[in-house]
Amino acid sequence: MKLNDPKLLREALPVAGKWIETSDDMLTVKNPSTGDIVGKLPKIGAEEVEEAIAAAAKAQKQWAKRTAKERAQILRRWFELMMENQDDLAAILTLEQGKPLSEAKGEIAYGASFIEWFAEEARRVYGDLIPAHRTDSRIMVMKQPVGVVAAITPWNFPNAMITRKAGPALAAGCAMVLKPASQTPFSAIALAVLAERAGLPMELFSVVTGSSKTIGDTLTASDVVRKITFTGSTEVGAMLYEQSAPTIKKLGLELGGNAPFIVFDDANVDDAVDGAIIAKFRNNGQTCVCANRIYVQANIYNEFAQKLKQALQKLKTGDGFEDNVTFGPLIDQGAVEKVEEHIADAKQKGAEVTLGGQRHSLGGTFFEPTIMTGVTQDMAVATEETFGPVAPLFKFESEADVVHMANDTEFGLASYFYANDLSRVWRVAEELEYGMVGVNTGLISTAEAPFGGVKHSGLGREGSHYGLDEFLELKYVCLGGI
Ligand code: ADP
Repeated sequence: MKLNDPKLLREALPVAGKWIETSDDMLTVKNPSTGDIVGKLPKIGAEEVEEAIAAAAKAQKQWAKRTAKERAQILRRWFELMMENQDDLAAILTLEQGKPLSEAKGEIAYGASFIEWFAEEARRVYGDLIPAHRTDSRIMVMKQPVGVVAAITPWNFPNAMITRKAGPALAAGCAMVLKPASQTPFSAIALAVLAERAGLPMELFSVVTGSSKTIGDTLTASDVVRKITFTGSTEVGAMLYEQSAPTIKKLGLELGGNAPFIVFDDANVDDAVDGAIIAKFRNNGQTCVCANRIYVQANIYNEFAQKLKQALQKLKTGDGFEDNVTFGPLIDQGAVEKVEEHIADAKQKGAEVTLGGQRHSLGGTFFEPTIMTGVTQDMAVATEETFGPVAPLFKFESEADVVHMANDTEFGLASYFYANDLSRVWRVAEELEYGMVGVNTGLISTAEAPFGGVKHSGLGREGSHYGLDEFLELKYVCLGGI
């Protein structure tokens, strides 16, 4: 793999305005497809994290004083640089994460779209003038940046999960200290390299890697950090919530999902199969909005199962840099084991594997795309996120039954259904207890729309005009004695 600009794969961390290249103990990043070493990075400790926070606090004050247009122009330039370097950014992403190169390119464009969107939104942070309670008073509301923000991001979208946070934070006038996933830090660093080139003061965007616990503890304990924005597991999210309590931080949590994908018998089955492949198998099933449970109405169940199998058999598994590959490797052995556990549990409780079900002959962490039929609510796949290429097909009879089953989970991130009856579309969209509902589509994420979940899936929304509010505080000013 050759980059057009090798400087984008930088083995150093931007911390408090300087690049740190070494530490006693180094983090080794490996390609999940081949096991080859991608590169090494310092593991920094609490002291350097504190320095990053202090530098961010200082720089943030100056950044917030700039005009929104100045901030917007730098973000716009950052977006343009991302798109100019799309191929290199995608190659770095595939190298450390494994997803097919075409999908990685898609992620870079998607990730960049958040920077573009929030560059545009930066200039629309309007306040309010409210009719007052007294004739001699005026009530004004202004919006101000929350200050220093700490972001902790996962490996499944090594670019977009960062830009979705950094875009609104920087647009609002905040500074950010970012801890990317240890598996995929080079995509984060490439973003920082481009941010610097775009003219963003380096202190506004530090990237720290090392012990997750030490870094997480330092970021949450700091009184200077006013907001934690996290994407990852519900377990770690709940811990960060708890750790943030003593300093009363604002929180944005994008946590696990257990998305239902429902196909009613008035749907177009071919469209539903296409949608299921996107919703279930994107990133090899490793996204928090991936369909985890596929419910199909009884009279079209066999037809759907057969068509899904035919469609999947045409798709190829392999190294992300090979042509025409749809499924890359899973991120690590732990991910493979979880998939195997879910399949074994379902089989033992009566499900049938009609496609795949095994580790792929390519070895490593490759796994065959899998379909299981006869899946029921008592199996592990019904309650836990599989995060792998397994499509469990549940059979249902009535709308009331399926809505009940779909909502019977502590999660509430994405949901999907296919139907054509307009009354049903409204009814079911309203009844699903989820932050997002895709109707007759398997792909819903976009910079213009609010992404987020209810129940154990999180707090707050990312993207859209709502996403900017998450990084702003309201200040009420009462002007008296007029
Ligand atoms: P995933 O299953 O996606 O790896 P995690 O919640 O474990 O989900 O990881 C998401 C992010 O949270 C990663 O950047 C990871 O390093 C980080 N993380 C894991 N444990 C902690 C912790 N104790 N404190 C802070 N961050 C953590």
